[in-house]
Amino acid sequence: MTHGATALPYVGRFAPSPTGPLHAGSLLAAVASWLDAAHSSGEWLLRIEDIDSARSRDQWRESFRADLARFGLRPSREPCLQSQRLAFYEQAIERLRAKHLLFRCACTRRELAAEGEPCCLRDCRRRELDPRESALRIDLSALPTIIVQDRSLGPIAFDPRLHRDVVIRRRDGIISYQLAVVVDDALQGVTDVVRGADLLPSTAWQIALQHALELPAVRYLHLPVLTEKDGSKLSKSRHAAPVSEAAVIPALLQALGCLRQDLPTPETTQPDELLRRAALTWDPTRFAGLAEMAIED
Ligand SMILES: [Zn+2]
Repeated sequence: MTHGATALPYVGRFAPSPTGPLHAGSLLAAVASWLDAAHSSGEWLLRIEDIDSARSRDQWRESFRADLARFGLRPSREPCLQSQRLAFYEQAIERLRAKHLLFRCACTRRELAAEGEPCCLRDCRRRELDPRESALRIDLSALPTIIVQDRSLGPIAFDPRLHRDVVIRRRDGIISYQLAVVVDDALQGVTDVVRGADLLPSTAWQIALQHALELPAVRYLHLPVLTEKDGSKLSKSRHAAPVSEAAVIPALLQALGCLRQDLPTPETTQPDELLRRAALTWDPTRFAGLAEMAIED
């Protein structure tokens, strides 16, 4: 099955988790998603993915909007917090339950890690399990292979039979990231997801859930993941987004350079002006096929 494009007005989004400050990698995703939306004269939404309350921190939940505004990145609508949308996720779970796609799984995280398997290891499907001591999973094994047409990376195939049962609600009662993203993208009318290629594995789950919930398809543009110069994982603390006004324009130019975009001329000291010009010449084919990129100074 091929997941195709939609013909709706463009709605994009940036959806950070409030587990730390904005850093070069998250700023890159914010800039790219903003530019892609602005180039299409679309909307750009900010969604704070704070559903995992144990990992989310109030200080980052509050600060994203102000941090982004310093870079000229302002959402088209009021930002939304996933922690305030639990009723929507419960409704989605009820729809999946009505389709008999859900089952409880008591496999522990330790057991799953030992097997290197994200799916149920035992015969949990056939057992009556205590909701307080089991996770809720969806059985996606009946789905055919899914082909994602990524705008940068091209066609990518996922076989749900290899991945199988994704967790919908964790043992501790927390709604899974995958379900929340899919429900919110649909309710907010998101047409285009622009984010780091590190989230590519999640894309298969999310498309599978879109199918199971009969929600509209979205387009995907996965960005190269920033690495250190030697190719190692980016140090988020070493590349925290700058807080001084003087460093805003250099950080935006660095993001544009990493995305291989033309740097707007003449030079400007205004982030809004810089972004407006960059949106005119925005061209994602400049980084097509790249899943990783070393950070530029
Ligand atoms: Zn199990």
